[in-house]
Amino acid sequence: MAVFDADLIIIGAGPAGLTAAQYGARANLKVLVIEQLSPGGQILVIDRLENYPGVTEGISGYDFSLALYKQAESFGASFLTETVTSIKKDEHFTVELADGKTLTAFAVILAAGSKPSLLGVPGETEFSAKGVSYCATCDGPSFKNKKMFVVGGGDAACEEASYLSRLTENVVLVHRRDSFRAQKALAERTMKNPKIEVRFNTVIKEIKGDKKVKSVVLENNKTGKTSEEETDAVFIFAGTVPQSSLARSLGAELDENGYIITDQKMATNIPGFYAVGDIRSNAFRQIVTAAADGAVAAHNASGYIDETKSKN
Ligand code: NAP
Repeated sequence: MAVFDADLIIIGAGPAGLTAAQYGARANLKVLVIEQLSPGGQILVIDRLENYPGVTEGISGYDFSLALYKQAESFGASFLTETVTSIKKDEHFTVELADGKTLTAFAVILAAGSKPSLLGVPGETEFSAKGVSYCATCDGPSFKNKKMFVVGGGDAACEEASYLSRLTENVVLVHRRDSFRAQKALAERTMKNPKIEVRFNTVIKEIKGDKKVKSVVLENNKTGKTSEEETDAVFIFAGTVPQSSLARSLGAELDENGYIITDQKMATNIPGFYAVGDIRSNAFRQIVTAAADGAVAAHNASGYIDETKSKN
């Protein structure tokens, strides 16, 4: 029988990928996790994780990631820092890396997550990293005691606005509709926060500045009234886009927004190829559900690998 580089290759080391690695390694599979950045993914930017079951005191995203990573490693998972450029399947899977090397495995779990959506207004790209940011914990401290705008009405916007309100008394949260889509408790806490001014039915039409952000042009989408207001920073949380191009090229079925369609076993339409976490269609997109996806996928991949090995 051919010798493969791994039984199971996991692409992405966020909570979904790291949990899959732990479960796969504990099932005695030879597991290789490939991540282009540090383990943790999007949770690295979480200031305080407080809704993971049992974590009553809260924990930083960084510490939580490190614990997940160490746990997976302690059970025998291996890690490689590289970018995957393609996944191919014939009898088995071949994963191609940016350095030109290829790796083989019986099964692949894609846990590549998602990245922030752009707002798509003039000035956004021009002032990116010059006052426009997609990560409050990364960039917020640079604007201590300054005025900051936050855009969005989801969990991320509310959570990040709350983080920023610890750095300044001057946070303005603008949302295009008249109610939040964030979880109720989070939305209520945001509304009650005296340091956050919530403006519904408001959109940013343009971000202006010279070397850095100086102002935003706002529009009330009910009245049509526009105004320009000075600010030092604009934090944008307008949702996420899935990093599913590897799955698309492989021929995996995607939904209309580019998220990967799976069944309850986290299996895609391609046997042996699984998708977990934020990249998956209809996911609730919480850390706890990402971790659960990872466990389910690893369990089912283990069954698939045993079956495939027994046929060879
Ligand atoms: P989201 O839930 O998709 O919310 C995106 C927000 O941005 C929405 O309020 C949306 O408005 C607004 N928006 C989108 N495009 C816009 C545009 N062009 N102009 C103005 N506003 C725009 O995204 P998210 O908050 O980043 O969260 C992503 C996922 O991660 C969600 O599933 C969320 O539950 C999860 N998450 C969970 C936690 C947590 O549990 N603690 C924390 C962060 C994220 P509309 O409402 O009008 O569509």
